[in-house]
Amino acid sequence: MSDLFLTNNLTRRKEKFAPADPKRVTMYVCGPTVYNYAHIGNARPPVVFDVLYRLLRRRYGAEHVLYARNFTDIDDRIIAKANEEGVAIEDVTERYAKIYEEDTAALGVIKPNIAPRATEHVSDMIAMIEQLIAKGVAYRAQSGVYFSVDADADYGQLSRWRRDDAVSGTRIAGEEDKRAAYDFALWKAAKPGEPAWDAPFGRGRPGWHIECSAMIEARLGGTIDIHGGGVDLLFPHHENEIAQTRCAHGRALARFWLHNGFLTLEDEKMSKSLGNVLLVHDLLKEWPGEVLRLALLSAHYREPLNWTGALLDQTKTSLNRLYGALQRVKDAPDTEEEPPAAFLAALMDDLNTPKAIAELFALASAANTAKAKDQAQAKAQLKAAAGLLGVLRQDPDAWFRAGAGDDATKIDSLVAARVAARAAKNWAEADRIRDELTAMGVEVLDGPKGSTWRMT
Ligand SMILES: [Zn+2]
Repeated sequence: MSDLFLTNNLTRRKEKFAPADPKRVTMYVCGPTVYNYAHIGNARPPVVFDVLYRLLRRRYGAEHVLYARNFTDIDDRIIAKANEEGVAIEDVTERYAKIYEEDTAALGVIKPNIAPRATEHVSDMIAMIEQLIAKGVAYRAQSGVYFSVDADADYGQLSRWRRDDAVSGTRIAGEEDKRAAYDFALWKAAKPGEPAWDAPFGRGRPGWHIECSAMIEARLGGTIDIHGGGVDLLFPHHENEIAQTRCAHGRALARFWLHNGFLTLEDEKMSKSLGNVLLVHDLLKEWPGEVLRLALLSAHYREPLNWTGALLDQTKTSLNRLYGALQRVKDAPDTEEEPPAAFLAALMDDLNTPKAIAELFALASAANTAKAKDQAQAKAQLKAAAGLLGVLRQDPDAWFRAGAGDDATKIDSLVAARVAARAAKNWAEADRIRDELTAMGVEVLDGPKGSTWRMT
């Protein structure tokens, strides 16, 4: 297999990736704050990094890749939601963590090896904050414990943040006693009615940034190979994660920093105030998970992705074509094949999924025109390549039946009637039925094992 190249936002260069230990490749991706349904923009990182996970598993062996994605299960928004509903915090976090897992599974996302929850690691966070205080880069105030950005000369390596350019910023309510506006909370002092943990520096709860640093240290340890997330997290979240770990442990948090681009909705930023938020949960009621997944992979992960109705229609048609090719060779014997070199080369070149999808179509064309003796290889190559992208996971007949919805039964009986007409040599009737099916967008395939159909 060729070398894997990834764009490392720490160096802003596309670099050859090699893990520090090929027997233990480590990757961490910031996960959701579980207080409501995920919108389609939130689904981009789990899907993008799932492709990278699949590629790493293929390259280094599934048993040698450790992938962690956390759940933030303590946060202002979670507390607000629990209060609003008059339920316990755990009711909210359990409910939305479960929905997140179901929805990402429907998008074909493989479960990460480790899914730590912040509240399971509060003692690790407390220990880390104590180290930061001991090293003089964190200080106690009335409202909590803060990281002193001025005390860390190396702050800003990822985002190229510079103290001189920093605007004084808006003061966050409740954090008026910070020394500098850009200092960030490691620990928030307990407030009545809020969950809190005992700590040497006062009762309270962790800030968001320390969660990831502490969970990475506790569950993956050392400097990890890859840290990923949406580009919206690059500053300040990832910058703060880096500063905390470097100052507490004297080493880098991660060697490669990868960020996926924004997702816009019909060219607009998705936001609650604009009223244009599309939830994965709702989209899954209208579209197969594979359509959403392939649409999310249709742009290069670093580029913005414009989500439109036309993109979904187009992607559905694309999947019909891919499944149509698979259906044509489905009776060929199953064999093991590597994905072809051109397909792999596209993914190994900084996860170039648009190019990989184009190569997938080339494989579909090859399957569509393969002679009988070549069908097994064409099928295996198509499936191996699709498997790395996490699509074509279904039986093709099942795919088309599901796509036809309520018409599936009617199509089945028309196809059966046509088979009977042909058996009775009633060619006129067979042709009439075929025309009726064509008008419905259905193509019939007559094979040695009977007739199947597909949507065109
Ligand atoms: Zn994080």
